[in-house]
Amino acid sequence: MRKLDTKTIVVASHNAGKIREIQDLIGPFGFTAKSAADLNFIEPDETGTTFEENATIKALASALASGLPALSDDSGLAVDALGGDPGVYTANWAETPDGTRDFAMAMQKVETALEKAGATSPESRTARFVSVLCLAWPDGHTELFRGEVEGTVVWPPRGTQGFGYDPVFQPEGYDVTFGEMSAEQKHGWKPGEPQALSHRARAFKIFVETCLEA
Ligand code: IMP
Repeated sequence: MRKLDTKTIVVASHNAGKIREIQDLIGPFGFTAKSAADLNFIEPDETGTTFEENATIKALASALASGLPALSDDSGLAVDALGGDPGVYTANWAETPDGTRDFAMAMQKVETALEKAGATSPESRTARFVSVLCLAWPDGHTELFRGEVEGTVVWPPRGTQGFGYDPVFQPEGYDVTFGEMSAEQKHGWKPGEPQALSHRARAFKIFVETCLEA
């Protein structure tokens, strides 16, 4: 495992919601971090079929373009009754013909597919959010960290916080959705704490333990 020995990195993402969450998580560690969007880097095609492959593609693209270590996130919602869909295609389900993303439409697609599958009871609507973070260095070295959080797909959507599919995801053990939680509640983690809640904070905690701590 390679340690990170610089405090200047690139957040290899163009997704505003993810950038905000990763900036929140790295903030306490004193990093200076610009995002791939700030740096006007071209978004690479996500041609992989796993979260790990796509996270690696994104982190390497930013590390090579910047000459700095780069941290990416590839994530998605895997719904059991849909055979793990939308999974790595979670962002694609939100794509509209004019190239923008519409998450109200994407959440409706998940709901329609669940109804079609007859999944109406909470027990039949289990799902998990997955986040794979990749830290890549300009010499091509990469490290991967995976976090998952179990929960249920609820309908109708609830809450206006967070981003993406947050309003339909209720994590196990909670009676509110990620869309009804503040960023701090959704992360559910601060440096030094033993537990994290969100998939991204869980992956980030492993990154900290692996690459930052002595
Ligand atoms: P990608 O990693 O860029 O392929 O996109 C991941 C997709 O999953 C995005 O469309 C997000 O909206 C969705 N997603 C990932 N993490 C979260 C989350 O924490 N909350 C809500 N949606 C998420």
